[in-house]
Amino acid sequence: LKPVNLFQEKSLLTADAARPPEPNLPLSLRKKNCSSNIIQCTMTNVPKSELLLKQVKLPLAFIFHPFSHSQEPCMISNMTLPQCTQCRAYINPFVTFLNQQQWKCVACLALNTVPGAFLFDQETGGYQDSQTLPVLQHPVVEFYAPPEYLDRPPQPTVYLFAFDVSSNAMDSGYLQIVCQTLLENLDRLPGSHQTRIGIITFDSTVHFYNLQEGLTQPRMMIVSDTEDVVVPDEERLLVNLFRSRELIMSLLKALPKMFRESSKTECTLGLALQAAQKLLSSTGGRLSVFVTQLPNTGCGELQCREDADHTAGPLGWQQLAPATDFYKDLALECCAQHIAVDLFLLSGQYSDLASLSCLSRYTCGSVYYYPKFHYIYNEGQVEKLQRELQHYLTRLIGTEALLRISYTQGLVFHALYGNSFLQSSDQFSLPVVTQDTVLAVQMLLDDKFVEWPFMIFQSSLLYTSIEGERLVRIQTYCLPIVNSLTEVYAGIDVVATMGMLSNIAVDSSFTSSQANAKEDLVDTVSEILATYKSISATPHTLELTVPHSLQRLPLYALGLLKMPAFQTDALLTLDERIFAMYQLMTQPLPCVMPMIYPDLYRIDTFIYEGSMASEGESIIKPSPLHLTIDNLTLQGAFLINCGSALYIWVGRNCNSDFLESVLGASSYKSLAPTMTQLPVLPNPASVLAQQLIETVRKGNPLYPLCYIIKDDKPSWATFVQHLIEDHSESAISYHEFLLLLQQRVCN
Ligand SMILES: [Zn+2]
Repeated sequence: LKPVNLFQEKSLLTADAARPPEPNLPLSLRKKNCSSNIIQCTMTNVPKSELLLKQVKLPLAFIFHPFSHSQEPCMISNMTLPQCTQCRAYINPFVTFLNQQQWKCVACLALNTVPGAFLFDQETGGYQDSQTLPVLQHPVVEFYAPPEYLDRPPQPTVYLFAFDVSSNAMDSGYLQIVCQTLLENLDRLPGSHQTRIGIITFDSTVHFYNLQEGLTQPRMMIVSDTEDVVVPDEERLLVNLFRSRELIMSLLKALPKMFRESSKTECTLGLALQAAQKLLSSTGGRLSVFVTQLPNTGCGELQCREDADHTAGPLGWQQLAPATDFYKDLALECCAQHIAVDLFLLSGQYSDLASLSCLSRYTCGSVYYYPKFHYIYNEGQVEKLQRELQHYLTRLIGTEALLRISYTQGLVFHALYGNSFLQSSDQFSLPVVTQDTVLAVQMLLDDKFVEWPFMIFQSSLLYTSIEGERLVRIQTYCLPIVNSLTEVYAGIDVVATMGMLSNIAVDSSFTSSQANAKEDLVDTVSEILATYKSISATPHTLELTVPHSLQRLPLYALGLLKMPAFQTDALLTLDERIFAMYQLMTQPLPCVMPMIYPDLYRIDTFIYEGSMASEGESIIKPSPLHLTIDNLTLQGAFLINCGSALYIWVGRNCNSDFLESVLGASSYKSLAPTMTQLPVLPNPASVLAQQLIETVRKGNPLYPLCYIIKDDKPSWATFVQHLIEDHSESAISYHEFLLLLQQRVCN
């Protein structure tokens, strides 16, 4: 594929550009390789030497889902998978068999003995061919953990919910919504007959609920000591979900009423967390914390750190760093006890997310944020909470997980990004792991690559399933190793690369400052382009050429620089900015990419011109447009997917058929100014529009609301800030960015 001249190329968003490049493996290996939905590498042709990697200036990183459900594991019930005695990589489809007795590890080339039972077929009484053994055909394999892997018997799945019931919380009306959603999904919580559940609430004190079977109704117990919380009997508080089902349901129905008249303004989150930790200390489990304000009393008390100066301008580490070590220390203790903390922040005011998010960051948890949540005044947020909570409650989880990565000798672990605690350079603690868990590891090379034309990257996850089985899931990914720059460039996955660069930018914002992170990003992109220019056919001209695989890198980099979280004039609060940065680090790539470079589609013509070939339930999306005002017209309606929100901008001269059949408005004037969802109308155009929105949302663990906005001033500003290729008051256009890069690269 030809290099691309950036100043001339006007159409960078072709359909093939969205798919990760297929690793260039022989067909026999390709069909055994892990899907790129599970493991994605920034370079699908891995450079052979340290020098070559340094030359391209790009990060070599693997972004992977250790517990993805996109490829069913091949279950082996009768044996433990053999492991290389030298490097501990598990046997996988890429190893070679010298004979029936010996296999060669591809990660370190050590020779290993084949265990007697491995190739033996009990049915025929003979030995099977290694080429046809199912275990050696599948990139994802699962088996029961042998006793030596178990420190203790597998624990039941335990769910503990902690609800803020201060007067502020009750005013927001969130508890009614959460309890109702929990009631509706109680039977869909992943679990077995051993699953346990508990509920605590907190305001100025912590309240426990005895839910032991046999009681006629739940009994509340109050702990008023604000220094050291003494937890009453755990057996009565964490109860069997099935045997105490009626009591749990009655408590969920009663809770919103019990505290309705509360006048307590205090929020002792720290104490509630300590109590929860004590409750879960012997089993581990998942703690879901709902909080609506800054913790203002007891341990972990926080002060407001937001003022006018802090919201504007690039953020320094002082605003991004936690105000206290309390939450981090507690999180690390939780992690050691296999407790994951998921935070639901529903707050109208500043709540110091920088400090609170430590709870999830060090326990492999998730953070959900609903600014200005109110059950009456903010219908959109109510819907978002319901949808996200439902996904959260019902997604499959594994508990007490330990993740180990193995890789070909020659690769060296450099850094981990994502919500996990690093135990050693190849082992991570994940108290809870879900299909949405994503981690990124950056690697270096040490010039000791083994003599094999391919490399492998393997993740092995030891976890407890909801059925209470201790299992090991192995996923193996194979890539070719190459010797030339041209080949390295040909295999670059620009989406994974951008995912990694955004991780690095967020990390550097937290440790240094946003200003430095942005400057580093521009430097990195300049260096990448300069290297390529120096080896290109025209090193001394002013042309800005890039390899075909990197043609969208400057566009994406500009998108990241202009993300509202990184902007100086953004109308976001400090918590909103921190949350946006946190998302970049913790959400899967298909959700992160539209946050960096949103997808823009014209939808009125799409819906009427019959270009809607259907593909199962999803429909094929229209072609994305470049993010510039030149692509808009007052005659059209445009959908923009920003990952965390969708906007449909309706031009004032939009086709009246579209207004009526899709938006349910008889005229532009009568279109409501604050719609957060498309009306469901009984006509084909409406059905198609709904399907399109569903398709855009698919695979996103978040539920982006769909705001319908008119061509008027305030909403236009919301929309136009995402047209990142245009010049704005405070930020440069794509063309100006290219000029800046040209200046750095061509001098
Ligand atoms: Zn080995």
